[in-house]
Amino acid sequence: QNQGLGSWIHRQRVKSGSKTALIFRDSSISYAELDARINRLASVLRANGVEHGSRVAFLGDNHPAFLETFFAAGSLGAVFVPLNTRLAPPEIQYALQDSGSIILVNTLALDDLAVRGARETGVELRLLVDDGSGAASAEAGSLPVQAYEDCFSTDAPFADAEVSLEDGAIILYTSGTTGRPKGALLTHANLAWNCFNVLVDYDVAGDDVALMISPLFHVASLDMGVLPNLLKGATVILETRFEPGRTLELIEKYRATFISGVPTTYQLLCEHPDWPKRDISSLRKLTCGGSAVPLRVIDAYEERGLGFSNGYGMTETAPGATALPPSRSREKAGSAGIPHFFTSVRVTRPDGAVAAAGEVGEVQISGPNVIKSYWNRPEATEESFTDGSWFRSGDMGYFDGDGFLFISDRLKDMIISGGENIYPAEVEQIISELEAVSGVAVIGIPDEKWGEVPKAIITLRDGYALDPAEVPAHLDGRVARYKIPKTVEIVPEFPRTASGKIRKADLRREHAG
Ligand code: ATP
Ligand code: MG
Repeated sequence: QNQGLGSWIHRQRVKSGSKTALIFRDSSISYAELDARINRLASVLRANGVEHGSRVAFLGDNHPAFLETFFAAGSLGAVFVPLNTRLAPPEIQYALQDSGSIILVNTLALDDLAVRGARETGVELRLLVDDGSGAASAEAGSLPVQAYEDCFSTDAPFADAEVSLEDGAIILYTSGTTGRPKGALLTHANLAWNCFNVLVDYDVAGDDVALMISPLFHVASLDMGVLPNLLKGATVILETRFEPGRTLELIEKYRATFISGVPTTYQLLCEHPDWPKRDISSLRKLTCGGSAVPLRVIDAYEERGLGFSNGYGMTETAPGATALPPSRSREKAGSAGIPHFFTSVRVTRPDGAVAAAGEVGEVQISGPNVIKSYWNRPEATEESFTDGSWFRSGDMGYFDGDGFLFISDRLKDMIISGGENIYPAEVEQIISELEAVSGVAVIGIPDEKWGEVPKAIITLRDGYALDPAEVPAHLDGRVARYKIPKTVEIVPEFPRTASGKIRKADLRREHAG
């Protein structure tokens, strides 16, 4: 019996087959059609050696093939390995090798990257998805490659394999913000429990229309957006890539009710020239996470009667740990909210005791959505858990007296100046209020007297200018003196991870001297 996610679409087909499951480039795919495609793909995977526990990788921007491969692998009990499309060939190679993937499904647009990345790995066959852009790699190499669409020529029954909720469903590599990406092994249960958290805390319903603009290879987009909506039989619109003007147009056109993104997504939408012109009143569920949200972005949405829910989480928690109910977002500005229904969160002191309200400590998470292990990384797994089931997030934060979590910053990014702890995120949040600022990173640089002093590195919005002296002036009186950056530098861009996060370790190295 298949208890895993691989059976979800099949079940929806039985319930309401003709309902639209996906909309991609303005064409609709019903639950019945999607299920039929998944079954056929599963039978082709099986014929090519994929069995319970095998790994199947995917490289491509958002496309129905991503979800078909995810569900087909899941229905066989195989583990799906989605790859970040912004990775370089050696990074793709690392992930394919580390995961031991035997099949790679990739889009035509990324064929070159796929061919180079699959070299000298255990990949035995590539399936090529013609997404209408790019051309097959000229250096196709020796690896057999087959057209993805050829998988659908023969009919196949639902692959009713033995899959338990405790089996691995997906290996997702963390963003690598603090070091080499680790493969988080998420089970069917981990993904399912996160979905249940979303159903409870965001009221996802069968009549929702979810517009998915963020990359599916991040667990947030997949498991906070797509999977809970498909589980409820709602309609999911997939966009290949995020483009703010087109996103606003699609919300209006399809009367979208649900979108998700990172703070930058929301910022780019409300700064777009079409923002005031489009009717986006259908939106009711706006999920956001990944980093702190600038206050002026929250304001722009509130002015239109839209409250979005900032959430905190990580790949290892599939990903939701906490979320802020939109109705409290003004009152609890800056908070990441309260723990999801089925998930527990605590803040601890260095000695392991639970911290008091208001006291900053390490944020730890426990619950059925939390991974049990990293893939092939026993030491990393060992280091990441304490008291049995508590996952150590590496983030510092505190609960206020009402039980709302505030994330201070990552432990690794904390600055210690003259014995005082500075959490850069707090200072960055205030600097980001300046209109001219598009991005900001505060880092510690070595200082003879203080050990470290804060430095602000800033990127500007197009067409804006900023006098560096405005930065300390803006902070004066709002944060303690020692937290105010001693130097401010404006740069054209930041070094970023493949998921768009600022690489602070690189900045610290660059600005050390
Ligand atoms: P790595 O673990 O490889 O260093 P990463 O932690 O950046 O990379 P992700 O799992 O993508 O990889 O990101 C999770 C992290 O993002 C959290 O641990 C936290 O530091 C940060 N984060 C997520 N949501 C929020 C939020 N709402 N506010 C502040 N920080 C957040
Ligand atoms: Mg992490």
